[in-house]
Amino acid sequence: MDTVLHTIKQQLSTLVAIPSVSSVNPAIDMDNRPVIHELAAWLGDAGFATEMQNVGEADGKLNLIATLGDGPGGLVLSGHTDTVPYNGELWTNDPFEMTERNGRFYGLGTADMKCFFPIVLAALGRIERRSLRLPLTVYATADEESSMSGARRLSATGRHRGARGLIGEPTSLIPVYKHKGIAMIGIEVTGDSGHSSDPSLGNNALDGMMCIVQALSEWREMLAHKHCDPAFKVAVPTLNFGYIHGGDNPNRICGSCELHIDLRVLPGMDIAMTYADLTEVVEDAVASSGLMVEVRELMQGVEAFEAPRAGPAVALAESLTGVGAGTTAFATEAPFLNQMGIETVILGPGHVAQAHQPDEYVEIAGILKMVDIVEAFIRNFCCHD
Ligand SMILES: [Zn+2]
Repeated sequence: MDTVLHTIKQQLSTLVAIPSVSSVNPAIDMDNRPVIHELAAWLGDAGFATEMQNVGEADGKLNLIATLGDGPGGLVLSGHTDTVPYNGELWTNDPFEMTERNGRFYGLGTADMKCFFPIVLAALGRIERRSLRLPLTVYATADEESSMSGARRLSATGRHRGARGLIGEPTSLIPVYKHKGIAMIGIEVTGDSGHSSDPSLGNNALDGMMCIVQALSEWREMLAHKHCDPAFKVAVPTLNFGYIHGGDNPNRICGSCELHIDLRVLPGMDIAMTYADLTEVVEDAVASSGLMVEVRELMQGVEAFEAPRAGPAVALAESLTGVGAGTTAFATEAPFLNQMGIETVILGPGHVAQAHQPDEYVEIAGILKMVDIVEAFIRNFCCHD
């Protein structure tokens, strides 16, 4: 094994061995600071100025902003430090002990996306520092897999911009230039319970929820007529009825009912405006019923993302991979980088279908190819004026 790959393997197994699960469930949510401290040490040794940024009020979550050079322009290389939760009993080996088999590295977060950081360091090892003319920034974020609070914090503070960005999420080395936005919304209808034998003794929340579901189904159809983007496998916005619960007994008027939906919007559709439209549809559906209705976000929405197809970042990714840029069904931190004025492409080794699963792996050949890609990104966007 050559020394570059040997170092990548060592560094990746170090990162995999540090648990950094993020979850909206506080019982299994973990601190990401040990991963950030490790990365800060490595990037510091590589000559970067490193800054750790607290994410949120609680301790335990950090972003890392590592910068080589200063001034406007340049390149941002961005990855998240957290992983999804795991089912240890379904793994062949310990998810935190990286193993090598069949030309792959197995372990939790190998593909999604701890491998990106050793890849960046390996690419940097090939670049003479004096050839860097424009700044190179590495972001390592917290909580991508849960609330995206790390990327939200970065974009809110707005410093350390670069002109172009690369996010190394697992895309099977196919460049991605757009994805849908996501909102998860809870709708709660409250009425009055009473004896089932006489409807006038209460106000049935489930009856109200039926009107809401009907109205949302019609609204969903209207959205699909109005918005279409054939670049996506599912070309229209989607609204999924994912959870419903109400009432307690057949012989009682249903006093309250709750519905959870998942809404996926196309680029060009603003999440906040769509959410406001949905709220109006829901309120109108039960306006004359005397029922109370509350609409709330179950998680803060993530905007859709779209980078200019012909822009330098996407064009370079296409020419390096020889593959035309496509779309994904999952959301990333790219819209937050977009908000910071960073023209971003998403591209990395590993497969999304395989990430978030037991026995997650990344192919070693994909890692080595990605080192070449990251090196070319640095040379293109940082080594020429
Ligand atoms: Zn990811």
